[in-house]
Amino acid sequence: MKILIVEDEQDLARSIRQYLQNQNYLCEIASTVQQGREKIEYFDYDCILLDIMLPGGTGLQLLEELKRDKKTDGVIVISAKNSLEDKIYSLKSGADDYLSKPFHLAELSARVESVIRRRQLNGSNDIHFQDIKIDIQAKTVSIENGEINLTKTEYDLLLFLMMNKGKVISKNAIAEHLSGQSAMYLDNFDIIYAHVKNLKKKLGLQGNYIRTIYGTGYKLSE
Ligand code: CA
Repeated sequence: MKILIVEDEQDLARSIRQYLQNQNYLCEIASTVQQGREKIEYFDYDCILLDIMLPGGTGLQLLEELKRDKKTDGVIVISAKNSLEDKIYSLKSGADDYLSKPFHLAELSARVESVIRRRQLNGSNDIHFQDIKIDIQAKTVSIENGEINLTKTEYDLLLFLMMNKGKVISKNAIAEHLSGQSAMYLDNFDIIYAHVKNLKKKLGLQGNYIRTIYGTGYKLSE
């Protein structure tokens, strides 16, 4: 799961990143409106944390642009002002949630999780495909009620495929999802082949649902 933190207070941005990384999220930081805009244009995030007062503009402008461009990233607006007006404006403009500073990182993390759950899993904790079930809260995977052990990367890969079931996922998208922006610079995908192979093996017969689309990537389909 990828999170973008658009926040100009560096200490705060870093502590949010640290906390969320410990919860197994991949985090990137943008500290100006322009940096945020560029990242949003080139990458997809599961949730974007938007500070309101930023160098070069406001987080609310970015929110308007996201909605205008019909982006589906989840958004939590974070504001220094406990302003009812900003809160109402944010929610009316399509933000999923609003949080006033100061806040506890544990609360932010819970809200991020709930935004992702609401948007991508229709409010459920479980995601299913055939006999495979992922409990995203417990971060466990089971097949016909028997739990299987996956590495963190295999888990993230399976979750990504299941959230995009029926769609062809390019190796680039997988590389980006698994390792963040640095994957842009990977020039071979051997590591992805290896993870997919191990994942398929651990899924047994269910692993056959992960199809290789020659020259492109992978697709989870019946
Ligand atoms: Ca600020």
